[in-house]
Amino acid sequence: MFTSNDVEKLALEIEESIENVLLDIDKMARINSRKVHSAFIKNGVSDTHFVSTSGYGYDDRGREVLDCVFADVFKSEAALVRHFMLSGTHALTVSLFGILRPNDVMLSLAGKPYDTLDAVIGLSSKGSGSLRDFGVIYSEVALDSDGRLDFVTIENELRKQPKMAYLQRSRGYDTRPSIMIDEIEKVAVLIKKISPNTIFFVDNCYGEFVEEKEPCEVGADLIAGSLIKNAGGSFAESGGYIAGRKDLVEMCAQRLTAPGLGSEVGASLGQNKSLFRGIYFAPSITANAAKTAVFAAAMFEKLGFETSPSWNDKRTDIVQQIYLKSAKNLCAFCEGIQAMSAIDSFVTPTPAYMPGYTSDVIMAAGAFVSGSSIELSADAPLREPYCVYMQGGIIYDNAVLGVMEAAKRVLS
Ligand SMILES: *Cc1c(COP(=O)(O)O)cnc(C)c1O
Repeated sequence: MFTSNDVEKLALEIEESIENVLLDIDKMARINSRKVHSAFIKNGVSDTHFVSTSGYGYDDRGREVLDCVFADVFKSEAALVRHFMLSGTHALTVSLFGILRPNDVMLSLAGKPYDTLDAVIGLSSKGSGSLRDFGVIYSEVALDSDGRLDFVTIENELRKQPKMAYLQRSRGYDTRPSIMIDEIEKVAVLIKKISPNTIFFVDNCYGEFVEEKEPCEVGADLIAGSLIKNAGGSFAESGGYIAGRKDLVEMCAQRLTAPGLGSEVGASLGQNKSLFRGIYFAPSITANAAKTAVFAAAMFEKLGFETSPSWNDKRTDIVQQIYLKSAKNLCAFCEGIQAMSAIDSFVTPTPAYMPGYTSDVIMAAGAFVSGSSIELSADAPLREPYCVYMQGGIIYDNAVLGVMEAAKRVLS
């Protein structure tokens, strides 16, 4: 049995044993950083693009070039990057309402999507302007008993030619495995074969820059994500992005602003520079988060806890699940993460009611950008199997201190 006094020594051993995995993450960061770097050069990013616009924001050159940079980075025809897309949920909502029309079918391929989409789809409430209120039909293919994509049922459902096939890459706050890029490619091939007019839309939240390729490179028609996660590189103060086929991105722009206005309005209000800087840093910041997750998995496996993914598993997102066995351990873990945050270290997280959850939830987060989960954060519903979801870490050297403090408090 280990005690909290063993954590420092264990950390040194672990860093040695995970060395090769960390090295692979560095290599990935190099590949993805160069992708971003060359997009900057290709598009001639200039300090004049950091100039702020106000009012309507017509002809905001920085905004237009930023869209081109994202389009190139994600190997897509077009992109829409806005500080006034308020979150990942908003970017996904804009995409769904931008594309889907009454009587269209949205088919979710990996079971029920992320919790915040319940109300968007209309699963949880009526009359608040959900897709269902507008006559969009939702259906889903459940995951198989291992939590994997059920390709047989997916193929059968695709024969009905749904308007959209929806896939969430990251596990989010589910217990299923995240969906790797090569599986996303298999889905894309199947869609093109069975139902080529179906629009393949991927929720890319938490997935950006963890692998070498992004969903549009393997056949997704559209992706969306949050800028206070990976793609904002911790510099974006707020925002979301959508990327993909040009016609689809423009439909989303029409919905985001107003029909007829599309992507041509929207003052940047001084945000362009942090969005450029964010995407520039995003691959290496994401690598720090991935390394922190690997360290945490290795540490807690050593301490006898189950994790998912395991420290040496292939990853496609930055989310780390640790099964902590008790409510007491969950609270101790979150207290440790909070106590070692640069911001709000003095706060004690306590479990509390959260709308949309059936049990109390505890959250630890001390971040430069409020609610940013590319910065080290952890949260957990207080119920079986007492699993904490940890993600982020913008500087590996400091983020491991949070993980170590979490380990110490769990052991004491
Ligand atoms: C975070 C997340 C969202 C929603 O993003 P918010 O910014 O929290 O609204 C959607 N899907 C997945 C997989 C996510 O991780």
